[in-house]
Amino acid sequence: MKAFDATQYYFDRAANLMDLSENIRRLLATPKREIQVQVAVERDNGEVATFIGYRVQHDNTRGPMKGGLRYHQDVDLDEVRSLAALMTWKTAVVNIPYGGAKGGIAVNPSQLSPWELERITRKFVDEIHDLVGPDTDIPAPDMGTNAAVMAWFMNQYSKYHGFAPACVTGKPVELHGLPGREEATGRGVGIFAYKLASRLKRKPSETRVAIQGFGNVGTHAAKFLHESEFKVVAVSDVSGGYYRPGGLNVPAVLQYALERQGHLTGYTEAEKITNAQLLELDVDLLIPAALGGVLTAENAARVKAPLIIEAANGPTLPEADAIFDERGTIVLPDILANAGGVTASYFEWVQNRQHYQWGLNRVRQELDHVLSAAFESVWELASQRKVSLRTAAYIVGIGRVGRATILGGIL
Ligand code: NAD
Repeated sequence: MKAFDATQYYFDRAANLMDLSENIRRLLATPKREIQVQVAVERDNGEVATFIGYRVQHDNTRGPMKGGLRYHQDVDLDEVRSLAALMTWKTAVVNIPYGGAKGGIAVNPSQLSPWELERITRKFVDEIHDLVGPDTDIPAPDMGTNAAVMAWFMNQYSKYHGFAPACVTGKPVELHGLPGREEATGRGVGIFAYKLASRLKRKPSETRVAIQGFGNVGTHAAKFLHESEFKVVAVSDVSGGYYRPGGLNVPAVLQYALERQGHLTGYTEAEKITNAQLLELDVDLLIPAALGGVLTAENAARVKAPLIIEAANGPTLPEADAIFDERGTIVLPDILANAGGVTASYFEWVQNRQHYQWGLNRVRQELDHVLSAAFESVWELASQRKVSLRTAAYIVGIGRVGRATILGGIL
């Protein structure tokens, strides 16, 4: 099953339980606009390299479209389309005034110099600047992109449109960024882990956690879970997994990665396992925080964790979701679990439009407020309607977008 089919499957499953006409369903599921551009740049050695860039703008009923920009060799239109739709439901679940979009370039950033990455980013902006902007569509970091990429994006955009810091979020704090944006997705995962544990009357100190992916989201999630006394026993990156049944020394692992441009390669204070093994470890909480599509019909039955928090976008394919449902595995879905990032992005956009710098405490407090309210509404609905947390989150999201669509009028 392709990525967009999976998102569509979850949409349909929730829509089937709602009072939505066939025509409105089709309208909500269809992306507004799909952009594909050539990104041709000169490499450091003088050769010409040509990449393909995408931006899918899924829905703008509730506000400007919002979504990350991914640099990864496997990026394609189907994946970006699926991620754009997820953003529409995600911004609606946490009730911030945005629609959904997503972008990406099919490129392996680890094989490029910083200069080449900057040229690719600026070229991409040259191609799409008329179709994005603070009131239209606002990119942010995702896999393979970071605050530096956002700074280049803003700088290039402002050459065409003048001063416009709100054209992207996730910028460096020194350049109109928000204190606490970088940690926000991982912090949100930590907040949700704590809330889930409380609801299930489980002690954090007796909850063993495995995290796949040790980038922006995985590292911050590890840090917050460790600070909340969860027992993080395994982490991984593209080089493989690192497992210590008695609990990893999380500050030491974070420091190790920090000193090696984020890589865990060569870490010896833990048993070396594969990424596939990490997903099947005997743990209480599994947090996929890297790629989509990693929990499949093939491995789902072997996943032992009774709790899964989807920090990554789209980590669970529908066949795996059905197996988890049947077995009573609790899955906190991506459209809620990783919404801390877009929520803090919204605060950054508000800050940029107010021209008034927010402080870290305010960001953390308001993040906690928005995410807690979203968690409670999804949990309540799931209990009332006796559906999974994923279906409940989709019902909340689709309901808000659907009502706004009808209220605003379609003609
Ligand atoms: P990142 O680029 O900072 O880190 C990605 C991590 O995944 C790295 O540790 C990398 O080594 C690892 N990885 C790459 N390929 C892998 C593989 N095949 N197996 C195992 N690990 C692999 O990315 P990120 O920003 O942390 O994003 C991770 C996930 O979280 C993505 O699915 C993204 O869409 C989602 N997400 C990110 C944000 C955000 O604010 N950054 C917000 C919401 C959702």
